[in-house]
Amino acid sequence: MPTLVWFRNDLRLHDHQPLDEALRVGQPILPLYCFDPRQFGQTNFGFPKTGAYRAQFLLESVADLRRSLRARGSDLVVRVGQPEAIIPDLVKAHKVEAVYWHEEVTTEERRVEQAVEAKLATMGCKATVYWGSTLYHPDNLPFGIDRLPEVFTQFRKQVEQRSTVDRALPTPAQLPPLPTVDPGTLPTLTDLGLAIPSPDSRAVLAFAGGETAGLARLKHYVWEADCLKTYKQTRNGMVGADYSSKLSAWLALGCLSPRQVYETVQTYEAERIRNDSTYWLIFELLWRDYFRFICDKHGDRVFYPSGLRGLLIDWQQDWARFDAWRNGATGFPLVDANMRELAHSGFMSNRGRQNVASFLTKNLGIDWRMGAEWFESLLIDYDPCSNYGNWNYTAGVGNDARGFRYFNIPKQSKDYDPNGLYVKHWLPELREIPAAKVHAPWKLQPVEQKRFGITIGVDYPHPIVDLQKSVAANEKIYQAAREIR
Ligand SMILES: Cc1cc2nc3c(=O)[nH]c(=O)nc-3n(C[C@H](O)[C@H](O)[C@H](O)COP(=O)(O)OP(=O)(O)OC[C@H]3O[C@@H](n4cnc5c(N)ncnc54)[C@H](O)[C@@H]3O)c2cc1C
Repeated sequence: MPTLVWFRNDLRLHDHQPLDEALRVGQPILPLYCFDPRQFGQTNFGFPKTGAYRAQFLLESVADLRRSLRARGSDLVVRVGQPEAIIPDLVKAHKVEAVYWHEEVTTEERRVEQAVEAKLATMGCKATVYWGSTLYHPDNLPFGIDRLPEVFTQFRKQVEQRSTVDRALPTPAQLPPLPTVDPGTLPTLTDLGLAIPSPDSRAVLAFAGGETAGLARLKHYVWEADCLKTYKQTRNGMVGADYSSKLSAWLALGCLSPRQVYETVQTYEAERIRNDSTYWLIFELLWRDYFRFICDKHGDRVFYPSGLRGLLIDWQQDWARFDAWRNGATGFPLVDANMRELAHSGFMSNRGRQNVASFLTKNLGIDWRMGAEWFESLLIDYDPCSNYGNWNYTAGVGNDARGFRYFNIPKQSKDYDPNGLYVKHWLPELREIPAAKVHAPWKLQPVEQKRFGITIGVDYPHPIVDLQKSVAANEKIYQAAREIR
């Protein structure tokens, strides 16, 4: 009687507990992936829920998983449909004894697994759920999830002092053959209602989905390019492939396990160098853990307009300004370059994300959920906990929100793009403007505009807001917000 392993956001063979446990049972294994049409619908504000960049990465990841399973004597059963319908059908047809999977913590994902569990219970089929998405296993935390500290630093310090990371589980060398079942074919982007995105040569990386590509990226960044030793100094960059690890997309879909990354860092520390930078990559993975545990603790609050903190702010849903933001036409080069990078490549640096999110919420006063949903649609590395957690934080509705904080766009531009290389990379219309003036094109005199081949208001927009006045107005709105818990 086979065991069914339901793959979800864990598209890998290394460090995969459900697969590992299924192998121990010693019965045939039926690995399954379902493309759930609900994931290809629309967000509340009407954006494609999974945009073409992420959908392509997902298709590549599933294809890679299938190749790896085939190489080990098994295969991947692929279906398009709702797991709560598909899994019971397979259970019935193949007399499946138990279904194993990795649990998720956010609302939509949980609803699906609860529906699967309920159906399996009526069929007398065992369902076993494992935790596999974080660096630290919840069982190894010094507190229960219900007692998780609300402030990141407190969480981090306690975890660093009192918790340990479990070893990553090995990749199985061989798997039992698939029972007689139609393995099914992978849908295409067109089947999913999406157009094939055209690659943009300006993108930081040609992200290829799958465990194989994820492990290759890890190897490249850490060992071949030897960038880990300088991560702390370069991580706030915006240009090029190697200023940061770029592992997020593979981590989000589970093509890489954070424990695998952790062990690679440990080996690097033993063999090459251990310094602030090697520590800092793990520090960032702790942020990732933190947002997942916080979402687990607070249920669906992270999606409320009032956020984890329960702060009712009078947000605007001004579509004209939102369109200017999402199309990269605000008149502020740092914001526009980042938004165009996102639109043309499905990626944006952490520095960029913080700035554009701050601009949307603290300068434009726009409902942060519109921004979060736009990110959800476009980001290759979209992860509900990291995305909504970070948006809560930037919008000032996060659990450890510390008053009205905002990013000063001109200062950020000078500090992080002093030579204007980044903005010129994504905004070719600004290419001729000297570095000293490129971050404030609205200040160019007509004669300068002529010299630099640009007409403000024609080739590049006038600023859509006054930075100082808009921040002051939105601070007032923030101060008038009502706490609802
Ligand atoms: C508004 C906003 C939305 C975001 N949405 C997402 C998202 O949907 N998915 C996502 O993975 N990250 C998100 N981030 C976090 C961060 O921007 C990305 O993880 C990072 O830019 C990815 O690039 P990297 O892999 O090169 O990161 P690195 O700097 O190399 O960091 C290593 C890893 O640590 C984790 N990490 C780093 N910073 C954060 C952080 N602030 N929060 C959580 N995890 C972090 C990621 O898994 C990342 O791959 C968001 C940040 C902001 C401000």
